[in-house]
Amino acid sequence: MTERIETVARWVAESRRIVALTGAGISTESGIPDFRGPKGLWTQNPKAEKLSDIRYYMADPEVRRLAWQHRLTHPAWEAKPNAGHLALVALEQRGQLHALITQNIDELHQRAGNSPQKVIEVHGTMFAVVCMSCNWRGPMQAALDRVRAGEDDPPCKDCGGILKSATISFGQALVPEVIDRAMHAAEETDLLLAIGTSLAVYPIAGAVPVAKEAGAKVVILNAEPTAMDHLADAVLRGSIGEILPQIVNGAGVRPATRSWNPGF
Ligand SMILES: [Zn+2]
Repeated sequence: MTERIETVARWVAESRRIVALTGAGISTESGIPDFRGPKGLWTQNPKAEKLSDIRYYMADPEVRRLAWQHRLTHPAWEAKPNAGHLALVALEQRGQLHALITQNIDELHQRAGNSPQKVIEVHGTMFAVVCMSCNWRGPMQAALDRVRAGEDDPPCKDCGGILKSATISFGQALVPEVIDRAMHAAEETDLLLAIGTSLAVYPIAGAVPVAKEAGAKVVILNAEPTAMDHLADAVLRGSIGEILPQIVNGAGVRPATRSWNPGF
């Protein structure tokens, strides 16, 4: 364990209202590709980005048909939480986790064992679908069953409107109440852990300066440099699955061995 990791582990041990802000980097070790990173889905196949753009999605039945095919085979359905996710569960079990703000839509935090009440999903969830006309919501798997049964673009059963995953697509507004909740949590924290996010996407990246100005320590753990490294009290580089358990559990403590709950 390096000196810097030991220092951060001490800060974690002393903190009572930790806020974690997670991005795609915490899920890549569970086999879910990052979208914007160097090996990202959109970097390697720019056409795929159309599938996540609300304008193309609403205008073009062919884009929707392709989007449903992508959903059918998304790695998230089979993905399991990794040691990084489990470290954040340990923080919650010790009563130190104030909130878990995530940009991820894969529900791996909830499946790892964090309570849904703690998780603030700023980009929504891919485990639900929503009707773009009447706002009806339902489970994604039921919609995918309809696709498997032959409907290539299943409409809303209530109103015939277009169904989409309950995520925030490009060109779609964030939910103001969700962002407000995230920013309030950032104001109230004594230690902000930014994990696996480039901190380049606003408004949520703004949680970092908000926490800093409110007097919190800021720790950034990411494989690449981020837009907020200059604000951090410590910047850690490397594998989230290796480093996060160390800073949560401290020196000499093994990573959490609690297994994820496959029945969730
Ligand atoms: Zn509808």
